[in-house]
Amino acid sequence: MALTRYVIIGASAAGISAAQAIREADPHGTITVLSAESDPPYFRPLIPFIVDGKKAVADIPMLGQGPYTASGLDVRLNSTVTAVSTSVRIVIVNGSETVPYDKLLIATGSHPYLPPSIKGTDAPGVFALRTLSEAQAMAKRISTSQEAILAGGGMLNLKTAFALLERGLKVTMVVTSPEILSQIMEPDGAMLIRQALKEAGLRILTGRSITQIIAGPTGVSAVVLDTSEELPAQIVNIGKGVRPNVEFLAGSGIHLERGVIADTHTACNLPNVYTAGDVAVTFDPITGERMMTALWTNAVEMGRVAGRNMAGHPMAYTGTFGILNATQVAEVPFVSMGIVHTAGTDYETHITATSETYRKLVFTADGMRLIGAVFVGDISHAGLYRHLIRERMSVGSIKNAIIGHRLHYGHFLLP
Ligand SMILES: Cc1cc2nc3c(=O)[nH]c(=O)nc-3n(C[C@H](O)[C@H](O)[C@H](O)COP(=O)(O)OP(=O)(O)OC[C@H]3O[C@@H](n4cnc5c(N)ncnc54)[C@H](O)[C@@H]3O)c2cc1C
Repeated sequence: MALTRYVIIGASAAGISAAQAIREADPHGTITVLSAESDPPYFRPLIPFIVDGKKAVADIPMLGQGPYTASGLDVRLNSTVTAVSTSVRIVIVNGSETVPYDKLLIATGSHPYLPPSIKGTDAPGVFALRTLSEAQAMAKRISTSQEAILAGGGMLNLKTAFALLERGLKVTMVVTSPEILSQIMEPDGAMLIRQALKEAGLRILTGRSITQIIAGPTGVSAVVLDTSEELPAQIVNIGKGVRPNVEFLAGSGIHLERGVIADTHTACNLPNVYTAGDVAVTFDPITGERMMTALWTNAVEMGRVAGRNMAGHPMAYTGTFGILNATQVAEVPFVSMGIVHTAGTDYETHITATSETYRKLVFTADGMRLIGAVFVGDISHAGLYRHLIRERMSVGSIKNAIIGHRLHYGHFLLP
């Protein structure tokens, strides 16, 4: 019997975990993984540590680490897929080379969004940190820089800001929204984090936007704000969200709605084509609505499910949390999950705050189910809350324990 030819476009969280899952289920099929990048697969969330020097390139490879040990993968770097023909089952690499497939996975991830309202983003010294090679370039430029400006107040920019602070730069974050982290919590929750960031030396300007980047012979030298204020900078990082990498699918017949639409088993609308990761449009387990996320953990999980399905072991994908972030900045841990923006809704919300902690719990309007939570400063037992939300459990008799932060594993063992 002929061996199945698996082709995976994208060699990162989704693509490599799919390859691993395929190899577990099918020891014989050929697995070709195509990557536009020139670096072998690496843990993308760790690239800020390349900027601050806490890690070297040798510390962040994916293949051969933990679960990513699948053997017999043909990983081809510098291989950009420029078109897909599903009628004859081939992908075109770098405009000319043809790679045939029996099963295809689209795991091309996303790229940073550069708002057209910011002029001059092509100047040397302007980054939108996404790849290892960009992290290396940023690290190099630090040696001739004193000031950095970051556009956007999201998680990725916070990580980048800290890396730059560690390297001794004066760092200013320019945030269009009234508060940082506006995608994952409301302003009252972000206040504690903002305070800690200020104490760590980060200057934050909210309610302002960059309109222009000014460059001289050595690259960026300053930015202009919408208030006409001019701030000096030799490094600018744009952190204004991401967009899925789907351009090469134009004319392929694969259904796109911003990203690639996945069914409940990660399959696309055409036979033998699957999708996973940042590029995929999946669904929120709480609301059931179509959605996309840009999280490593989700990409790994969905990639594994796609790999199983491609290898002929049907497995449903249970969906993606719209927001699920757990991290620590400036010594403040925080978690944000499920539905957390409640202004103007009739959800039942409970907020408790101290000088060091903030807790917000969001229940359905009838108070029967927990649908979202934000914890800042103390994230103990966050996994239990995640379980309640994800499994859509009726909170019933344990509601008071949830609100009083007395929830523990024993509550899940009670009849
Ligand atoms: C600085 C930074 C910090 C982050 N921190 C966190 C964090 O703490 N927690 C978290 O959950 N997430 C974090 N993320 C997000 C996380 O990295 C992404 O959600 C994750 O990498 C998505 O994985 P993916 O496999 O879907 O796609 P990607 O990682 O985007 O990889 C896409 C792959 O597809 C390839 N590709 C794209 N187009 C083509 C093409 N046409 N042909 C061939 N190959 C192509 C690329 O070369 C790459 O190999 C961070 C991201 C960044 C940039």
